[in-house]
Amino acid sequence: MSIFASSLIAWQREHGRHDLPWQGADVYCVWLSEIMLQQTQVATVIPYYLRFVAVFPTVFALASASEEEVLSHWSGLGYYARGRNLHKAAKMIVDVHGGEFPKDHEAILELPGIGRSTAAAISAQAFHEKRAILDGNVKRVLARYCGIGGQTSIKRIEEELWRQAEALLPDEGVAAYTQALMDMGAMLCTRSRPGCASCPVQSGCVAFNTGCVDRLPEPGLRKRAAERRAIFLMMMKGREILLEKRESSGIWGGLWCFPQLDEGELAEYSREWQISEKTALPSLTHVFTHFRLHIDPLLVKFANKPSHQIEHAWMEVEEALQAAIPTPVRKLLSRL
Ligand code: SF4
Repeated sequence: MSIFASSLIAWQREHGRHDLPWQGADVYCVWLSEIMLQQTQVATVIPYYLRFVAVFPTVFALASASEEEVLSHWSGLGYYARGRNLHKAAKMIVDVHGGEFPKDHEAILELPGIGRSTAAAISAQAFHEKRAILDGNVKRVLARYCGIGGQTSIKRIEEELWRQAEALLPDEGVAAYTQALMDMGAMLCTRSRPGCASCPVQSGCVAFNTGCVDRLPEPGLRKRAAERRAIFLMMMKGREILLEKRESSGIWGGLWCFPQLDEGELAEYSREWQISEKTALPSLTHVFTHFRLHIDPLLVKFANKPSHQIEHAWMEVEEALQAAIPTPVRKLLSRL
């Protein structure tokens, strides 16, 4: 076993995380946690994970739920394609694999929402298979430890990182090593102010030994996030509010939202529905990975019953808060 692997495992035993709710659990829980942890930090994931497992304790429970039910328990966690893919994958596991999570690596990769690193993390942790992971944190650790310059999003650099990730894999203890690498990236070799002084692999770390820890990995070119603006129409009828179900693909796909319009469309809706009264509520901004959405909520009263092409429902506010809704809709409903 390489010094890197043995040092990391020994460090993890003493300083790593040992009480994460999915540690030592079955493959269903490992899979679920790995999907939730994509793009999301452990502290945010834990309460969602616990609630999700309580409602859907098995892959059969998850597969037999409706997509809407699944998304309602994903509500607030963001990146909803993960929830939709998780649900599709559960159905596939039940239909194609008889409810048994596949052990074969290629079969794991065929499940929706599972890429190379996630598949490896599942194989290593649940089946103790020798597989390398390479998520954002691990890229940072390896870029520094191996002294790999260049932006990690560049294909050639990423391929080099995969080569290093595979070369450093131990023949045994892959599950412990994988956890150690994850803990190292999250707790020690952090983006800013890494704990090099107490790092178990400091003596072999190229970045540390050449004084370029703060320059690796090379940051990607930061594009200025695009700014978008939208009106959310909050149409109330007594205690009920109108929500529309978004198409199943795209941002907030399958979720219940307020009708979203731009300035031009508002005039058209105002005429058609004879909107008699509009009250502008304080704006809010929701930040997505690639853009910022500035939302202008408008509370309206109307004379005409709205005609609708897409699936919609009138819900009591309390009921709407339990539905599959994205965070800004939740915030606005809470204001009512
Ligand atoms: Fe990361 Fe510092 Fe350890 Fe190098 S010495 S692996 S930069 S924590």
